[in-house]
Amino acid sequence: EITAATNFLRAIVQADLDAGKHAKIITRFPPEPNGYLHIGHAKSICLNFGLAEEFGGQCNLRFDDTNPAKEDQEYIDAIKADVEWLGFKWAGDEHYASDYFEQLHAWAVYLIEAGKAYVCDLTPEQAREYRGSLTEPGRDSPFRERSVAENLELFARMKAGEFPDGARALRAKIDMASPNMNLRDPILYRIRHAHHHQTGDKWCIYPSYDFTHGQSDAIEGVTHSICTLEFEDHRPLYEWFLENLPVPVRPRQYEFARLNLNYTVTSKRKLKQLVDERHVNGWDDPRMSTLSGFRRRGYTPASIRTFCDMIGVNRAGGVVDVGMLEFAIRDDLDANAARAMCVLKPLKVVITNYPEGQVEQLQLPRHPKQDIGVRVLPFSREIYIDASDFEENPPAGYKRLVPGGEVRLRGSYVIRADEALKDAAGNIVELRCSYDENTLGKNPEGRKVKGVIHWVPLAESIECEVRLYDRLFKSANPEKAEQGGSFLDNINPDSLVVLQGCRAEPSLASATPQERFQFEREGYFCADSRDSGPDALVFNRTVTLRDSWGG
Ligand code: ATP
Ligand code: MG
Ligand code: MG
Repeated sequence: EITAATNFLRAIVQADLDAGKHAKIITRFPPEPNGYLHIGHAKSICLNFGLAEEFGGQCNLRFDDTNPAKEDQEYIDAIKADVEWLGFKWAGDEHYASDYFEQLHAWAVYLIEAGKAYVCDLTPEQAREYRGSLTEPGRDSPFRERSVAENLELFARMKAGEFPDGARALRAKIDMASPNMNLRDPILYRIRHAHHHQTGDKWCIYPSYDFTHGQSDAIEGVTHSICTLEFEDHRPLYEWFLENLPVPVRPRQYEFARLNLNYTVTSKRKLKQLVDERHVNGWDDPRMSTLSGFRRRGYTPASIRTFCDMIGVNRAGGVVDVGMLEFAIRDDLDANAARAMCVLKPLKVVITNYPEGQVEQLQLPRHPKQDIGVRVLPFSREIYIDASDFEENPPAGYKRLVPGGEVRLRGSYVIRADEALKDAAGNIVELRCSYDENTLGKNPEGRKVKGVIHWVPLAESIECEVRLYDRLFKSANPEKAEQGGSFLDNINPDSLVVLQGCRAEPSLASATPQERFQFEREGYFCADSRDSGPDALVFNRTVTLRDSWGG
């Protein structure tokens, strides 16, 4: 049973609207374009866009692009595609923090003129030392008392490109003894001679995250600026800027607990490392926790949105079981994915008493509950079953085919195994069976046949490749490395098993990239969006049929 968990921010928004504080709410989703979005971002997207949708407001997409060296147009494009794929629409065009560089610069000058900002010449190492620690107050920079005129001149020369990277910085003059480290004269501008994907070579000084974020919110009229709990300590600084600058409105920052999923890494830096060091095949590798990875794996946008509803929004951290996400996709695919048969390890079966040359066109429903039509399966003397569905020495409770035993072929007849043919090494290469002609769509007379197995016609089935994906990490907390190791040591060596020479039922010939199926008895699969085509079918396993989570 899927139920939505609570979201404390809904109550806050509702109260603000009831009190007439805002006529309309404005939220924003503010990714930094330095990587692809991951499942943690989905929580923030569903939250910000979800609130706007629910309360008739708007949600902006704003690229937080103050760090040009790490950013790239590729990431911008991917982020936009992922938000759209999840089914959300941002208000108007996308925004960029860099759209506000002129205004931010003017506000920096404003602070200098008000005696609230200064150019500091300490090296980064010295600045760190002057900053003190949690137990020790910081010391004032020797450059703190520069005159307004000198600060204006130096800042202008910083902007004009006269100094190398890191030589000087513009800092706010707040309080070097504050117990909140963020208030110890934080940096407003750094020198970075770097080309920017939006502004080109116009700037060689770039504003810090803190100096950019709240003011960008204010410029856009954001009412509820929602971020993760790590930014709680930044809130006094966020408010300091809004109080000390002539901003048009004063947004409020709210924090919520970020999503942590077991068996999953959700840090862009680590995901980038997995890609760069080729532990996976790109950002959209189906094992990645990126939204493009989930998409290629066969996840639906609905399943991810459902998952985000299930986990709720609160301020208490914790780790969510990845089984919940698997539950959400399984539930969606069970209800909506067409059924098909695909034999992963083909074993040839000859039905010796079936007339040679005869073919019956069997019709099977594409879905047991939904009325989405039928598929046709030709049935004749030769078929494939899965090698694991026949056992010469069956363990107790084995319900499939055994020597002399009977089993039903899905949507077809009951067959009995008469003889197993072997090669010189003793491997079974073919089964000789007989069928009961009175069992099509009905039970045999006088005996019970419990097992049902899947099959495909030998001649008409299509060869395909099947990629069995499993969790990328074998440990529940992959970021926790053994002594001296790294999270990479926790990679599951069996996270991808590629099977060639699998046999798909003929209806799968028309599978379009990304189309999703339940392969009966095997799991949920989708046609790979990069590698699958009419001449070479490739299917990715999205998720297995069953799991222990959620019953
Ligand atoms: P990472 O730590 O992976 O680099 P980030 O927070 O630096 O992520 P941003 O691009 O700045 O990445 O994130 C955009 C928005 O998504 C931010 O508002 C951030 O709070 C939110 N977000 C990022 N990771 C998570 C997460 N695991 N759970 C919920 N929200 C997240
Ligand atoms: Mg961030
Ligand atoms: Mg980051």
